[in-house]
Amino acid sequence: MTATTSTPAPESATAAGVSQRRILRTEIPGPRSRELHERKLAAVSAGVSTGLPAYVVAGQGGILVDADGNQLIDFGSGIAVTTVGNGNRRIIDAVSKQIAEFTHTCFMVNPYEEYVAVCEKLNELTPGDHPKRSALFNSGAEAVENAVKVARHYTGKDGIVAFDHAYHGRTNLTLAMTAKNMPYKHRFGPFASELYRVPMAYPYRWPGGPQHCADEAFSYIIDQIHAQIGEENTAAVIIEPIQGEGGFIVPPRGFLPALAQWCRDHDILFIADEVQSGFCRSGDWFACDDEGVVPDLMTTAKGIAGGMPLAAVTGRADIMDTIHPGGLGGTYGGNPVACAAALASIETMEQEDLRGRARQIEATLKDRLGRLADTYHQVGEIRGRGAMVAMELVTDRETKEPAAALTAAINKACHARGLVTLTCGTLGNVFRFLPPLSIDDTLLGEGLDILEEAFAASV
Ligand SMILES: *Cc1c(COP(=O)(O)O)cnc(C)c1O
Repeated sequence: MTATTSTPAPESATAAGVSQRRILRTEIPGPRSRELHERKLAAVSAGVSTGLPAYVVAGQGGILVDADGNQLIDFGSGIAVTTVGNGNRRIIDAVSKQIAEFTHTCFMVNPYEEYVAVCEKLNELTPGDHPKRSALFNSGAEAVENAVKVARHYTGKDGIVAFDHAYHGRTNLTLAMTAKNMPYKHRFGPFASELYRVPMAYPYRWPGGPQHCADEAFSYIIDQIHAQIGEENTAAVIIEPIQGEGGFIVPPRGFLPALAQWCRDHDILFIADEVQSGFCRSGDWFACDDEGVVPDLMTTAKGIAGGMPLAAVTGRADIMDTIHPGGLGGTYGGNPVACAAALASIETMEQEDLRGRARQIEATLKDRLGRLADTYHQVGEIRGRGAMVAMELVTDRETKEPAAALTAAINKACHARGLVTLTCGTLGNVFRFLPPLSIDDTLLGEGLDILEEAFAASV
């Protein structure tokens, strides 16, 4: 499809020199990338694998340039990280300025304003108008670990409840919370204790049918917590308001507010892991905003800082301030360069209304994917919000048998055509779309044309 009304990319995303066009000069990956990949295989642990081994030399807006000069359309944003786009002028300026001033002191030794300013912004933007405090870390997993530490410390209880299909990271504690064995957990245990798993309110696969998911899931889950752990032993329930790696599973309306209220009634902290769904990705600042859910603690990372490593825990001041001085921290947490990038990234989101842009992208994605669903019975469900949309593939709409092989084949066909796509899902049968919000409509449309071609070539 050639978009007739194309929205120009937001101004700050087009400052540098990469044309917003797909260009294929060689097969993908090309000879230079293949050479680099040989070196990778000889130098990098086999445990670190690459989805599309086209080695990147530049990126801007919706385009990644590889070592052979191919220009790939980016539908992944480095897993929901470059929300404001690579090559964003505000980020480049803020980071360059900060690097020239100073790169590190360790906030716990010599503090600096940028750290405080990021915490102020987080406290302002996250749901709820109660007093809040934040603490900064390096990765999503580290933020989740610290949220668990805070919850246990504050409540004096041990039990943590996580969900089927959850992904919370790859450290030992967060692996205990992550639901999927391969590749994340396989033979990496034993895992941290006092972690419990309950079913996810997953409408498409809820045994009693999607229409009963909200009520049945909620009562089933609280009964299970009551019977198997006990409210008085449960420190926190942690949930991704839209699950990420597990398949972009959106719980039915009413489920999250009911769960948050139940937690409040039982002195259990409600932790929202917004590492993937936060910072405009879902069309709101945070996915919790959609139903006005106010978590006690929230974890953020990925889209927060335009690609610089930064993560945060933000929560009720009374909870966050019960921790003794020195109880939270880390050498690099809230690094000044990452903080400068976060401030520039948040400014971009505010000034260019990236929440609105995410909703426009949602409309385009759902329209085009809906047409695919009209053509192919393998499209089981299209779901998600904002620029966080997924398509679950099945071999048959009646049995809902997961079509993992087809998903992998389409993914490969997209890559070969210069479209960077990502899959997800515990069953490996979900296509997820996470374009940078700075992608223009022409590229978005072209990416969807390629997906259509890849689909046709693979079924
Ligand atoms: C990616 C992710 C994490 C882990 O973040 P890292 O920065 O990779 O440690 C945690 N929670 C969710 C919801 C995620 O998507």
